[in-house]
Amino acid sequence: MREIPVPLKLQIPEDYPSLINCLIELIEEEKITSLTIIAGTYARESLAKQIHQDLSKVVSDLQYIEDIESITNTYDWLLAIGGGKFLDKAKVTAKNNEAHLIAIPTLISHDGICSPVAVINGKSTGAVMPEALIVPLFIIEKNELPMIQAGIGDLVANLSAIEDWKLAKVRKSEKIDDFAIMLSRRAAMNVLQHLEADLKAKSDPKEIIYTKNFLKSLIESLALCGIAMSISGNSRPCSGAEHMLSHAIDEIYGPGTKASHGIQVMIATVYLEELRGYDLLDNLYNASSVNLERSSFDSRLKKILIQLGLPTSFEEINITSEELKEIMILAPKTRPERYTFLDCLK
Ligand SMILES: [Zn+2]
Repeated sequence: MREIPVPLKLQIPEDYPSLINCLIELIEEEKITSLTIIAGTYARESLAKQIHQDLSKVVSDLQYIEDIESITNTYDWLLAIGGGKFLDKAKVTAKNNEAHLIAIPTLISHDGICSPVAVINGKSTGAVMPEALIVPLFIIEKNELPMIQAGIGDLVANLSAIEDWKLAKVRKSEKIDDFAIMLSRRAAMNVLQHLEADLKAKSDPKEIIYTKNFLKSLIESLALCGIAMSISGNSRPCSGAEHMLSHAIDEIYGPGTKASHGIQVMIATVYLEELRGYDLLDNLYNASSVNLERSSFDSRLKKILIQLGLPTSFEEINITSEELKEIMILAPKTRPERYTFLDCLK
């Protein structure tokens, strides 16, 4: 048996009054008397100020600090509202100040919303797991399509990451964690099965994506990724060779220059699937990823992504075959200690 950090709460309030109710409930349950509110640039003006005003009636020591960099010490609890990069900074601030973190993500473009890992200046670093995750659906519903597509992309990457872990077990006797794999697989499949079923009835992806049910399942899946990583104690269940390709792209061209993180890892997953030579979705429940029959196949994953109007080749994000060669050389060096399918290509 083992003890794993898992947030106390996962709530997806549909409107502002429900968000405040969630927070008040948490404050009462955890007997929170001192709380620091911090917010990223976009959340600062309206949401953070409103929350500050409404919580002032229930928390005796409440402060709102505009600039996260200026924090020297926080109260016992830290409430952070913002996008991925901001929440990453907040996780590290909470760790440095030994504070409990309440995370209110305003974007769902990657799987870091509920993980104990933060990416600061391109490097992964250990941070705190949020004590509570409260995702305001009324804000997520206004996220631009590319942001949500990036979140879907980061989930798709789990399928490649799981294959790499299975491979490392066979080739390098690396210990794998069945529960971390199960959660990572469930996270990806919740969303892909939802999309696969809905695409049969609706041809406009926006009609599927911008529904409460789909967005809730996407949020839950991204949270599941965090729990999977918390179980394994590292990013292994959700990050393999496809993430290395994306890190290499970021190193060569700068993050966000070619595409978002989620789109890059998604395209890399499709690209690697073809190199692996078997259908990732068909191999989901196969315990191994070696000695499989390699042949040409119609990728179910690629079909879903194309129907969604998402890019599935590097060419579509302006990466030429010459550039791809350079990326493939650099990729394994971005995380040399992690054995992946890329090591089989050397
Ligand atoms: Zn990722």
